[in-house]
Amino acid sequence: MYYLSLSDYLKRIYGQKVYKISLQSGCSCPNRDGTISRGGCTFCSEGGSGDFAAPLLPISEQIAIGIKRVEAKLPKGSGHRFIAYFQSYTNTYGDTHKLIGLFEEAIRDERVIVLSIGTRPDCLSDEMISELKKLQERYHKKIWVELGLQSVHDYTARRINRGYLLPVFEDSYRRLKAAGLAVIVHVIVGFPWESENDILATVKYLSDLHPVLDGIKLQLLHILKGTKLGDEYMRNPFHVLSLEEYCSILIKCLKLLPEETVVHRITGDGPKKILIAPLWSGDKKRVLNTINKAVKEA
Ligand code: SF4
Repeated sequence: MYYLSLSDYLKRIYGQKVYKISLQSGCSCPNRDGTISRGGCTFCSEGGSGDFAAPLLPISEQIAIGIKRVEAKLPKGSGHRFIAYFQSYTNTYGDTHKLIGLFEEAIRDERVIVLSIGTRPDCLSDEMISELKKLQERYHKKIWVELGLQSVHDYTARRINRGYLLPVFEDSYRRLKAAGLAVIVHVIVGFPWESENDILATVKYLSDLHPVLDGIKLQLLHILKGTKLGDEYMRNPFHVLSLEEYCSILIKCLKLLPEETVVHRITGDGPKKILIAPLWSGDKKRVLNTINKAVKEA
């Protein structure tokens, strides 16, 4: 079967391979700082490292370091292009003008061709969306907004302490799309209380969105040390998906997606050092080979 992978999409649009560099905005997360809760989402390991307090380098320096790191692994040459990715925490949670200043510093770099911003749907004011729209138009470069929905089911939202319910996502989705911004949604596959039908219902809901969803990240549930879910698992281990089960569900998910929705991820790299389960997910090569084979045969 065919699905539109991120690398195929980037080659089609930009005619070349495009690399991601991760940048820090210095934002925290309202689900961790006490505004919504102090605990955070139960699967989330971010914030445990104490790097909220780490001094922030200027964006231009972060870009230089990120590009140097990527280019060290590439054949010598120039003309490489990059996605500036504000990945950690909630990158629209803070002063709009200050944050837009950081985003502008990234998007105006000529080597950066896409700006990608990870955030929560309850942290997107009309002002922030309007400023992002202006930035996209001023630089003629795409801005992607990534939302960690994980599941459309409210019982899951409550169990993972996500801190917002589905209508909040729907409202932000509508406003982002109306502003011409691309939306990428993160989905977690493998919550122990969700059946296969529950997972497929999430993907079906996203597949039926109008306007059409720009991108999706499908990620296996990783149970990590230092998280509430990790503590629960250690106290009372529950069923986690096998690689075969994951592949089977993944293929059903991919079959539901509209052909123009870009699949940014079909698994996640479990951070090996803190991975409790499923341990097979730490073997990245085997996982990718098995998934690619299953997709080919589907
Ligand atoms: S997953 Fe995102 S929203 Fe949830 S606690 Fe972690 S950083 Fe905050």
